[in-house]
Amino acid sequence: MQIKYLGTAAAEAIPALFCHCAICEQARQKKGKEIRARTNVLIDELMIDFSPDAFYNMVRYDLDYGKLEHLLITHSHVDHFDAAELVMRNPGVYSNGLGNRVLHLYGNAMVGKVFKKISEIDNQGQAIAGIQFHELTYGVPVRCGSFTVTALKANHKPDEDAMIYLLEKEGKHVLYAHDTGELDPSVYAYLKQQHITLDFVSLDCTCGKLNCRDGHMGFENMLKVRDRLKPYFKTNTTVAVSHFSHNGKLSHSELESICQKHGIAPTYDGIVFAI
Ligand SMILES: [Zn+2]
Ligand SMILES: [Zn+2]
Ligand SMILES: [Zn+2]
Repeated sequence: MQIKYLGTAAAEAIPALFCHCAICEQARQKKGKEIRARTNVLIDELMIDFSPDAFYNMVRYDLDYGKLEHLLITHSHVDHFDAAELVMRNPGVYSNGLGNRVLHLYGNAMVGKVFKKISEIDNQGQAIAGIQFHELTYGVPVRCGSFTVTALKANHKPDEDAMIYLLEKEGKHVLYAHDTGELDPSVYAYLKQQHITLDFVSLDCTCGKLNCRDGHMGFENMLKVRDRLKPYFKTNTTVAVSHFSHNGKLSHSELESICQKHGIAPTYDGIVFAI
């Protein structure tokens, strides 16, 4: 399994579009790994989230969205679900040569609502042909391509069923936890009940140096969660961190040095993990 981080920032990106803070200014100067697009990953053929940087990612990583068949959305915040870009899949108007291929879109009820709304606004009230929405429920596994995917409760955006995902493929398990604060007790309970051992965990680290328990996590909060997840680890489980905000006051170079002390894998745009 290959996990590619297309983007690793929180909603405003780094440098943030309208910001002059120290983190954004150093990113503008140094560039390279200090530049972060909005959080979005590709795990083999499965994409998680569709960020406002979809076009930028397509060009810089040579992605072919026309071949994409499975798109999981974590929640309806616009940095994770830029629904308007999906209108561009409309065949014969904005896209060509897709044949009968269907893009399966998975998410909670709010994601379904946003997708329907954007079809109404930007597509003359018509559903977008070739995209099929599937509503997910916490704790109920579904098949997505070569993966079995289970949505679990995120500690984030309580006005909808925000989701983190447990992915299984060929006996390997990935816990993808963006966006979330310290994990909901139901997540540990599910791992225990299902006797899951994790090969790879991606944890929210939005708040960097700050303390943040709910909604998102700071580095120290993330370490607490990592420790609580240890009973579900193998000897070689990788723990990576992502979804960084400039407000967390961590440059990538600083992040690398604190991650090294704690055995955590820092992410940057374009990094690939093979598990
Ligand atoms: Zn986010
Ligand atoms: Zn800034
Ligand atoms: Zn969010």
